[in-house]
Amino acid sequence: MEKTHWKKIVSDPNFIGEGDFQEGEEKVLTIDRVVAAETVVTAEGKSQKAVVHWREPGNKPMILNVARSKNIEKVAGSGYFEDWPGVQVQLYIEHGIKAFGEVVSAVRVRPFKPRVKAAATVPTCTDCGGEIAPAMGKTAAWLAAYTTKHYRVPLCAACAKKRKETAQNVKSEAPAEDPTPAAAKEEREALPWETNPDPEDHKTGTWAPGGSDDPEEVVL
Ligand SMILES: [Zn+2]
Repeated sequence: MEKTHWKKIVSDPNFIGEGDFQEGEEKVLTIDRVVAAETVVTAEGKSQKAVVHWREPGNKPMILNVARSKNIEKVAGSGYFEDWPGVQVQLYIEHGIKAFGEVVSAVRVRPFKPRVKAAATVPTCTDCGGEIAPAMGKTAAWLAAYTTKHYRVPLCAACAKKRKETAQNVKSEAPAEDPTPAAAKEEREALPWETNPDPEDHKTGTWAPGGSDDPEEVVL
């Protein structure tokens, strides 16, 4: 859910600040232009500041300070404002900066070219054609990867459960003496994600020997 930080409302509404970021958010923005001497009105009054404006609409401009400028220079490979338009930078909030006897948070520029995670595309469910939604504490991507590994096709949680139940019914209809011990054991098993801790927890948990949360490496 999109949340509204009080600082977004109460602090300077004209320039980008902590309140413009969701918790942990990193923004990748493209410099449109730098105004070397823009009149900025702060609590201390009017002053002239260098201000970065962005190409992406809806993002407040950013006042340049030494730290931000140094890191933009690293990303741009140039310290000249004229070379900055078109350069993409990655912004984040640094907490716990000590300044003038106070601990504050500030918008910082990452000193490297943006590293944006490619958005993981989650396939639709093979059985019902519907969206694979997060379920039982698992992300959609996790469920898609898990079901693809175990059922050969991506499935939503509901369809995975149906397949599991169907497989169990087939087994229980078989002659009593027929099931192997392994199959009998499988009948008693719940869906793996109902009984196993989240892959994120396995570093301190006991179930995942692989040391990775890659579903491909999780043997259940
Ligand atoms: Zn489905």
